[in-house]
Amino acid sequence: YKNNIIRNQNNLLLREKNKELILAKNKAEKASKARSEFLSTVSHELRTPLNAINGITHILLEDKPKKKQLKYLESLKFSGNYLTTFINEILEINKIDSTKVEVENISFNLKELLFNIQSSLKELATANKNYFNLEIDKTIPDNLIGDPTKLSQIILNLINNALKFTQNGHVNVIAKLYSQEEENATVYFEIVDTGIGIPEDKLQSVFESFSQGSIEVNRKYGGTGLGLTIVKKLIELLGGEIKLKSEVGKGSTFTFKLNFKINNEPLEVIEEVKP
Ligand code: ADP
Repeated sequence: YKNNIIRNQNNLLLREKNKELILAKNKAEKASKARSEFLSTVSHELRTPLNAINGITHILLEDKPKKKQLKYLESLKFSGNYLTTFINEILEINKIDSTKVEVENISFNLKELLFNIQSSLKELATANKNYFNLEIDKTIPDNLIGDPTKLSQIILNLINNALKFTQNGHVNVIAKLYSQEEENATVYFEIVDTGIGIPEDKLQSVFESFSQGSIEVNRKYGGTGLGLTIVKKLIELLGGEIKLKSEVGKGSTFTFKLNFKINNEPLEVIEEVKP
């Protein structure tokens, strides 16, 4: 009888504790949802007037401004672009965090995707006098199934950083087939640069929001400190993990592995043109 009373009391305590935990969880979820909605509304509200500012700056720059006006307009253009990138990145992080981002599964060609990225960044490579090399394993299947938009965003961000923080050096992008089974392929990606490198005590924090290198690096190179946060979150969303090795003055290496399905089905003929 005594044991029964103790058991009942324990059960009651446990139930109360569970109730408290559920209430705390609901409260936290509500707060997080409210924060996410607030951020989204503010960012969207800022984007509309900012589009007007950027648009008008563009028109005025086309209008053959005088030397002094040109200087002011160039500065306005820089600030406008910075703020646009910043707002877009905040929205992107918010979207990923509130699980509003869906992972796509569509057929794509990895070689084409990497070549397109390379050609879109050629100007930046030559501006900083960098050799920019792509090494793509020939055994990677042509028809992978995955999320090419998110993969492009990840690789573009990493190469963009590599080219930005390297001058008169090398940026190498390597894609290797790590393993392959019937319908699955794992690809290993490596983005290597011979740039300024990252101090050991910053190797973890560079992936955190608003985290940047030293004040001098920040002043010289600019940026929002949000790019690597998005890259890390996107890689994790696709089931991978980003790793970083770096040495100040020698360069940095970012690596990650991702799984893809292989599209073995022949391409569908949508419309045949007959002679
Ligand atoms: P940012 O917009 O400032 O470049 P990121 O999140 O992309 O923001 O990067 C955070 C910081 O990590 C950068 O400010 C820079 O100090 C450092 N960093 C990122 N990539 C590299 C790289 N390839 N070489 C050297 N430093 C890098």
